[in-house]
Formats: sequence, structure tokens, C-alpha cells
Amino acid sequence: MANSASPPEFNSLRRLPATPEAGGIRTTRLQEAAYNAQLAAGLPISNLARAVLIKENGIINFHHCASYIHAVQQMEWFAAAFRTYTGPVTVVGGKGGSHASAVDRRIKIGTDSRYNVSQCEQACLHELAHIVTPDYGPGQELREPPRGRGSRKGHHHAWRVNFVLIVRKTLGKQAALLLRYEFDQWGLPTSK
Ligand SMILES: [Zn+2]
Repeated sequence: MANSASPPEFNSLRRLPATPEAGGIRTTRLQEAAYNAQLAAGLPISNLARAVLIKENGIINFHHCASYIHAVQQMEWFAAAFRTYTGPVTVVGGKGGSHASAVDRRIKIGTDSRYNVSQCEQACLHELAHIVTPDYGPGQELREPPRGRGSRKGHHHAWRVNFVLIVRKTLGKQAALLLRYEFDQWGLPTSK
């Protein structure tokens, strides 16, 4: 489970993009941990991403992110796992970090996430996991405190489980195992 197999792109990423989803609100320790774990997992790049997330003039156009996300949504396993979420989400671009609104069924893949294919694919999958994991669980109860030290800012257990599933189906079993391992290391277990 060592990370010696991390793709070279990750070596240049010394720190994570600043609070991509907090929208100006300070990140919590556990929210930060979710990004760190994802980075540490050194996830591979899928063939779909290599084919679809094409760089033009040094950056991937957000329309390609939309194509990628919609393609994932149309996969058989996705429909089986997330049947009420197969309608294509709205994908927008813009400067800065990435963000998802499950309520509006809208994903922003910001410029920070579009300079390399690996980061871009991970942002698409990360945000898609937010779409299929609203912060309110069954019975409309909040899955975690909305702020404060206990908050993972949406990176709660239900999100992690769905993200790991999405990673397993798109990036493979080994990638999912690495991600689970790193979530665990960062204090964000994915077991029941
Ligand atoms: Zn997130």
C-alpha cells in the first residue's frame, strides 16, 4: 500500500488547491484530510479520461469535463447504483476550484482542476460523488454538522463510500483500495 506508484504528476503537487469547495469559508481539518487522502492515493487515469479530457492551449475545456461526467452517468453500473441520478448534470467552468451542488444538480470544474488530466478526472469523479450523495440523508436529517470541527464539509461517510465505488468502477479495484486505505490513514474510514 505504499505510494511509490504515484504518477509523476503528483510529485509536483506539493500542496492542495486552496479550499476548493468552501466558497470562502474556512476549511475544517477533516475536510482537508479528504483532499489529502485523495492526493496521497495517487490514483491512475482511465482510458475514458485520456480520450475525452483533451488539453487545448495548456488547459482542458470544461465542455470536455461535461462529456466525461455524462459518459460516466450513462454507464450501466452507474444506473444500477444511482438510478435516480442518471439525468445529465449541468457542468460549468470558471476560475478557481471545483464545486458541486446536489440540490441544483450542478458541477463546477474550475480552472485549478483542469491543468492536468489526472487532477481533472479526479475532480469530475469527486464532484459527481457529491451529486449522488446529498448532505441530507433519508428522513432529511443532516449527515454531519454543517460547520465546526466535526464537519467534513460534505466528505461524510456516505460520500466517501460512494466516491470509493465510483473510483472502483472507473479507475479499478486497486485504485479503490488505495483510496480506502488513505481515507483510513487520514481518519476518514469507509468501513461500516
Ligand atoms: Zn468535495
